[in-house]
Amino acid sequence: MLEDRTLRTTRQRKIILEELRKVKYHPTADDLYLAVRRRLPRISLGTVYRNLDLLSRAGLIQKLEVGGTRKRFDGDTEGHCHRRCVACGKVEDVYLRGLDAVMRRAVKAMTDYEVVSYHVEFVGYCRDCRSKAKRTGGIR
Ligand SMILES: [Zn+2]
Ligand SMILES: [Zn+2]
Repeated sequence: MLEDRTLRTTRQRKIILEELRKVKYHPTADDLYLAVRRRLPRISLGTVYRNLDLLSRAGLIQKLEVGGTRKRFDGDTEGHCHRRCVACGKVEDVYLRGLDAVMRRAVKAMTDYEVVSYHVEFVGYCRDCRSKAKRTGGIR
């Protein structure tokens, strides 16, 4: 019985991780719930939340503390930055190759702080929203 449950839990966690790593749009827990439900029709939103929490505490995924009201998740735990569009809310990756090590070294040298992780979020308007604004005469 217990073994059944452990197996089921492990499988759920594996599928949640797979679904998160498949996408690039930094989904919320609700987005992931919808995706995971296609493969596990009986899973609950609470289970998805719980597993996301567990996976992020284990360092297997990133919980993004980006602006906006809902937490987003990232299957990519390599150091990278994010950009967020204030008009449409889209969150995308920004890879500034080489800059990561420079920033860590600079912080270490200036503040004697050993950096294990950091979050950088660039906020602005994406290309889609800018071209839409051009057509309609302003960004709302
Ligand atoms: Zn946008
Ligand atoms: Zn990311």
